[in-house]
Amino acid sequence: MKRRKFLKNSGTVTAGMLSAPLLASYSENKNQNDTVDKIKTSYPIALCTWDFGNATAKAWEVLNAGGNSLDAVHEGVMIEENNLNNQTVGNGGRPDRDGNVTLDACIMDKDANCGAVLALQNIANPISVARKVMEETPHVMLVGKGAEQFAYEQGFKKTNLLTEKSKKDWEDWKVTSKYKPIINIENHDTIGMLAIDAKGDIAGACTTSGMAFKMAGRVGDSPIIGAGLFVDNEIGGATATGVGEEVVRTVGSFLIVELMRQGKSPQEACEEGVRRIIEKNKGKLDFQIGFIAINKKGETGGYCIHPGFSYRSFSKEGHVNNLAGSYLKS
Ligand code: ASP
Repeated sequence: MKRRKFLKNSGTVTAGMLSAPLLASYSENKNQNDTVDKIKTSYPIALCTWDFGNATAKAWEVLNAGGNSLDAVHEGVMIEENNLNNQTVGNGGRPDRDGNVTLDACIMDKDANCGAVLALQNIANPISVARKVMEETPHVMLVGKGAEQFAYEQGFKKTNLLTEKSKKDWEDWKVTSKYKPIINIENHDTIGMLAIDAKGDIAGACTTSGMAFKMAGRVGDSPIIGAGLFVDNEIGGATATGVGEEVVRTVGSFLIVELMRQGKSPQEACEEGVRRIIEKNKGKLDFQIGFIAINKKGETGGYCIHPGFSYRSFSKEGHVNNLAGSYLKS
């Protein structure tokens, strides 16, 4: 059954299950559309984690040609999935500890439709498979062999994702098995992208090969809706990079969108999201987390634990690499 039909069929039940406070907050937020109409001249905007200039340029190209935010984030992040020199996303990503490259990705649109693939092997563009899950199935997540089988059914080609460089890194790692990520340098280049199109509609995508040399079967935050990515078209969107386990523990991206719903700016919400993670870790901060966010007004923000995290934005104001503020100072 096609996803939209499935959602339509289950619509009555879902509406009946909504609690009174949820319905109240939905109608309050409806008023935000008045504000949005006044400031929508700042649209469109694309932004992504880290300095992936080619990816945001691609997303901007889609938006500037009148394309929608879903196509923009999809085509934008695919640039990095196809970049063999990027060892943390898509084709060319570093493998798990058994030498298998396993990819995670998710995508979410303006209507809260979403799709994800987890631990997908042999397919170069997990974001495209995630979008197929969203659009062609009644499900949100497909994992491992099932995801791979679905990809073949959808016409995706089998591809060897292990490049010579990533294989060599894995072989070197096996000698000591004492690999430890270097903050901001290794393992933290997941691309999470958010876009708001000319109509003011928001979508997001997040894609990664996960932590290098991870345990077989390990999945982080990146393909988990609410953790690595969340979009609510009434409010805004957020996405994450860094040690996924920490983002999952606080459902980081959902938290940031909810903080924006309560009135925080994207910047303030990202700062609070990072603070929540810091509180849970009681002083142990030898890992990096970076969040970025956008709200319905087209305001953006980013924040991280350790200095060095940046995010790219592309809007009418230009193409900018923004150095995010950090909780710890250098
Ligand atoms: N968040 C990713 C993961 O935990 C990795 C990263 O962003 O560096 O799999």
